[in-house]
Amino acid sequence: MIKPEDKKIIVDAIREIPDFPKPGIVFKDISTILNDAQAFGLLMDHIHDRYKDMKLDFIAGIDARGFIFGAALARDLGIGFVPIRKKGKLPYTTISEKYALEYGVDEVEIHIDAFRDVKEARVLLIDDLIATGGTAYAAANLIEKSGGKCIEACFIMDLAFLGGSEKLSKFTPVYSVLGEA
Ligand code: AMP
Repeated sequence: MIKPEDKKIIVDAIREIPDFPKPGIVFKDISTILNDAQAFGLLMDHIHDRYKDMKLDFIAGIDARGFIFGAALARDLGIGFVPIRKKGKLPYTTISEKYALEYGVDEVEIHIDAFRDVKEARVLLIDDLIATGGTAYAAANLIEKSGGKCIEACFIMDLAFLGGSEKLSKFTPVYSVLGEA
């Protein structure tokens, strides 16, 4: 569990933008954590502490904000980072997974050799926020399809009222740094 005083500093650093990108959505802007050295440092120290003894082989981050936290954590832990990207962005051979949006479908991809030659690589999935959970569920599936084991899915925030974390937790353990938003 994060210390309440650290949690307050991180929560206070999140900027909420009403009606972005469309009416009715309150967008949680984490760029204001990134440019606050104290909040970003406390957050990274906390997740480093949580994962340092979990014998992870890779961190897989979701396009695009999961790349920032994921790559920083991978560097802190001394392990590799794997990007899970929106369709059409990865240049080499990929495995892909479709998922449903409110209207239509989207697709994420991973490189076929993302976990190199590590057998049953222990992988942590990371993103800034879980909402309906569609993106994270597809990403966790990609980790398994490409030969890894999704050890846990970590988010900074969880919009738990949308039910995504509950659904995802049937597939892999879910951790949210700030708890339910
Ligand atoms: P979902 O697949 O519905 O769980 O959506 C999760 C993805 O959408 C994550 O990559 C989030 O960064 C982004 N996202 C969804 N809702 C919000 C929100 N209210 N504020 C910021 N990002 C969001």
